[in-house]
Amino acid sequence: NLDQMVYLDKLTTIGQMAASIAHEIRNPVTAVRGFIQFLQEDTPDPKLKEFSPLILAELDRTNKIITDYLKLAKPLDFELAKVNMDELLADSVELLKPMATYENAEIILNMSPSPNVYGDAEHLKQAVMNVLKNAIESLENGGVVTVSKKPDYYNGKVILTIEDNGKGMTEEQLHNIGLPFYTTKTKGTGLGTMITNRLIHDMDGRIEYSSKLNEGTAVTIVLNAHTKAD
Ligand code: ADP
Ligand code: MG
Repeated sequence: NLDQMVYLDKLTTIGQMAASIAHEIRNPVTAVRGFIQFLQEDTPDPKLKEFSPLILAELDRTNKIITDYLKLAKPLDFELAKVNMDELLADSVELLKPMATYENAEIILNMSPSPNVYGDAEHLKQAVMNVLKNAIESLENGGVVTVSKKPDYYNGKVILTIEDNGKGMTEEQLHNIGLPFYTTKTKGTGLGTMITNRLIHDMDGRIEYSSKLNEGTAVTIVLNAHTKAD
C-alpha cells in the first residue's frame, strides 16, 4: 500500500545518506583505534592501561553500528538470480554454529525438497542470518531453533520458517519490531529486523513475525520460486 511505499522510499534515502556518512566516519575511527592500540602497548601509564580496553570496546561498538548501517544501502546493488536455498541455509547455520554452541543451543534443519528461489543470494543470506541471530539470542539455556523450508507449488513460492522456543515477545515488542533502533538488548543496535524486512521486501518476498511471551517466536519468510522465465 501507499503508506508503506512512502515509508520504504524514505528508508532508501536514509540508507543512502547513512552509507556515505558511515564511509566517512569509518576511516578516522579505524585510525583512532590503531593509535590507542599502539599507545597502550608497554605503557607505564596506569590510567591508559586501565581505560584503553574500554576505549577500544567503544570504538568496536561504533564500528558495529556503522557496519549494520552500511548494509542498509546495499539493496541498491541487488542482483536477482537463481538461489539454492538448501546451500544458503546450510551455510548460514554453519556460520552461526559457534554462536549457537556458545549459547548451548541446538539448531535443527528441516528441509523438504523445493525449487530454487528468485532472489539476491548475498542479501538473502544476510536476512536469514539476522533472523537466526535473533532466534539464538532469544534462547534461555538449552534452547532450540528450528529452520524449515518447504515448497508452495500452487502459488510458486518457497516458504521458510525460523522458529525458536526462546523468551518470545509481548504485544508491544511485536508491534515495535522492525522500527529503526528498536531494541530490548543492552548491546543491540535495533537495526537487524529493519534491514531484514527491507531486503526481503526488495526481493518481492514477504516476512511475518508471530510470537508468544515466554513461549517463542516464529518468523515466516515467503519467497518467489525461480522459474525458467526468470
Ligand atoms: P537487535 O537484535 O539489535 O535488538 P533487531 O532489529 O534484530 O535488533 O531486533 C529488535 C528486537 O526485536 C530485539 O531487541 C528483540 O526485542 C525483538 N526480537 C527479535 N527477534 C526476536 C526473537 N526471535 N525472540 C524474541 N525477541 C525478538
Ligand atoms: Mg538482531
